[in-house]
Amino acid sequence: MDRLMDRCTRSILTGIVIAGALCLPVSAQTDWSQVEIKTIAVAPGIYMLEGAGGNIGVSAGDDGVVLIDDQFAPLTDKIRDAVTKISDQPIRFLFNTHWHSDHTGGNENFGKADTLLVAHDNVRKRLKAGGVVDFFKSDNPPAPEAALPVVTFDQTVTFHLNGGEIHAFHVPPAHTDGDAVIHFRQDNVVHMGDLYFNGMYPFIDYSSGGSIDGMIAAADRVLTMIDDDTHIIPGHGPLSNRSELAAYVEMLRGVRAAIAPLVDAGMSLEEVIAAKPTAAFDETWAKGFIPADGFAKIVFHTLKK
Ligand SMILES: [Zn+2]
Repeated sequence: MDRLMDRCTRSILTGIVIAGALCLPVSAQTDWSQVEIKTIAVAPGIYMLEGAGGNIGVSAGDDGVVLIDDQFAPLTDKIRDAVTKISDQPIRFLFNTHWHSDHTGGNENFGKADTLLVAHDNVRKRLKAGGVVDFFKSDNPPAPEAALPVVTFDQTVTFHLNGGEIHAFHVPPAHTDGDAVIHFRQDNVVHMGDLYFNGMYPFIDYSSGGSIDGMIAAADRVLTMIDDDTHIIPGHGPLSNRSELAAYVEMLRGVRAAIAPLVDAGMSLEEVIAAKPTAAFDETWAKGFIPADGFAKIVFHTLKK
């Protein structure tokens, strides 16, 4: 973890862009000292923190603070400062939506400070083993013990605190094979981790078990459990809602429908990319860190399996 962090930081300092899951949402110009943690109030006691890396969810109340994801290790102090402005209670639990390092980079810092780390079984397995994220060719070294979730679950886990329930459930392989959706039931808020990139093509980690079909199924499942008043914290992008999520899943369906016949026809990756199967969607969705060709490549790989 540290080695990768150094690599990422070095690349940022030298202005050389290296591809890596860790660097995913961080531009070549990013300097950790310049990253500002912005706090967005979502519902009473629930907040979204934006900084660099995956959006953080916060539940704060009399029973303590629960964090959903923790961005990068160099940002831990800033994240703590932001939480202190929300609540004087300790950060008791940290939940990881999946294993990627832009969502788990602070784990070791929080783990050493007696915050209890919670995640799906496969998050712990992948963090412990380390591994390559093929699309970015990033090599993640095995995480240190303190960075590993202490409590893991197979299907669901529920936190009963701060006057409500925070219900997390695993979905079949989608962005990775260890994804969870977090439902703040009483507050009508959902944190979707990287199952949802708001307003941009998503990354799907096919080398960690991810698939386009799983992404569509996960988004469809969330759509069935929310209403027009639900606030959705996406893994990346601004705070969102049901209609934006519905547009996103339609895009996923459309891109899948455009690429599947090409894969079935036996086209190579190069031929699929040359056919520009995402063209009808690019103006709206090719705005994030996954460009059009990259998304075509990702969907090709998940369908080819
Ligand atoms: Zn991710």
